[in-house]
Amino acid sequence: MNEKQIMIVRCGEVALKGMNKPYFERMLADRIKRLTHRLGDVSVTRHEGLIFVHADKEIDRQELIKDISKAFGVDSISPAIEAEPDLDEIGKAAVEYMLDLIEKDGIKTFKVEAKRADKSFPVKSPEISRIIGAKVLIGCKVLKVDVHDPDCTLHVDVRKDRAYIYHEKISGFGGLPLGTNGKGMSLLSGGIDSPVATWMMAKRGMLIEAVHFHSYPYTSQRAQEKVEELASLVAVYCGRFKLHVINLLPIQEQIVTNCPEDETTIHVRRFMMRIAEKLAEKTDCGFLITGENLGQVASQTAEALVVTNQAVQLPVLRPLIAMDKVDIMDKAQEIGTYETSIQPFEDCCTVFLPKHPVTKPKLDRILKSESALDVDKLVEDAVNSEEIIEIYPAGSGQ
Ligand code: ATP
Ligand code: MG
Repeated sequence: MNEKQIMIVRCGEVALKGMNKPYFERMLADRIKRLTHRLGDVSVTRHEGLIFVHADKEIDRQELIKDISKAFGVDSISPAIEAEPDLDEIGKAAVEYMLDLIEKDGIKTFKVEAKRADKSFPVKSPEISRIIGAKVLIGCKVLKVDVHDPDCTLHVDVRKDRAYIYHEKISGFGGLPLGTNGKGMSLLSGGIDSPVATWMMAKRGMLIEAVHFHSYPYTSQRAQEKVEELASLVAVYCGRFKLHVINLLPIQEQIVTNCPEDETTIHVRRFMMRIAEKLAEKTDCGFLITGENLGQVASQTAEALVVTNQAVQLPVLRPLIAMDKVDIMDKAQEIGTYETSIQPFEDCCTVFLPKHPVTKPKLDRILKSESALDVDKLVEDAVNSEEIIEIYPAGSGQ
């Protein structure tokens, strides 16, 4: 027994999904399988609303936990040991478990919290706690019981075929399993915001495809590599995806030549949205995703967002719209994109940046100046010039 290490995975919100519950759980289990596959001998099973991961003992525990926690929909993870659902067996396993913890963490006090998922088990939960607590006291002489502030709360979960013993609960990101909520085309720049926005939509179960605009040769090859690196960091969570890369320079030149200087950015943004929408249609994406944030810069004032939005029909998801920049930066740190995002490379938006950008654009004025351009042709040419790059999760060795 116990040749394998076991992780109990709790599905957060997934557990609330009523009739769809088995579907969400299956999607989550599949995702965990995919994420842990690289580690070797790992099996993932579902049982009574929980997911169990059995992995070879040789597999690094921290790596295993790290991989599982990248699956959206995971509420928490508990490394556990199992025992026969019998009080003597549970007691023996609990003593072994605690001796190990005394050696590793130097714990001195504990309490037991037992739970009986199998109501046909003849002993009730408080009684199980008492009996196992007594066995641990006998088996681990250095330990004392402290019900108020113990060094360790030992959980005993008695189920039909097995009992599980654990003391840790490591939080996951929550959210919903990838692939349970449509597909979105994300406008991915090299900045801090758009990788976080992409991550947040993937966290709600949305599959991701992305588009990046550059202005080569005004923007460098290295700037594009930075975006590819960011994309692969996001792919750690949302899986492998396609990045559509488009040179916006021909359009920017037309805008600069034909439209008022202070409107440049807003015109550029309308084109970005239109091109993204065309790509979304081609790739079955029902949404656009941006890292826009109300009031952050001139092109993201309330008025500017209305004018940008008017260029497209598809719903535009802006998960960061009401967040403060510091919170977005914290999130970027947490998911691991921040350090790459702050590398100083030029972005296509900073090429031809007007000195005094209009902050309250009027739609009728923008439409009027835009009428000097052959919008459909410019969009079509841009879409036809796309380069597609396959993005693999960072660290996947591909
Ligand atoms: P970010 O940190 O995401 O670059 P930002 O604060 O720099 O955001 P803007 O440059 O105004 O904001 O862009 C707003 C949004 O427009 C970005 O979050 C992104 O979704 C999209 N966007 C901007 N530049 C590009 C680009 N070069 N390629 C693709 N999308 C872009
Ligand atoms: Mg930007």
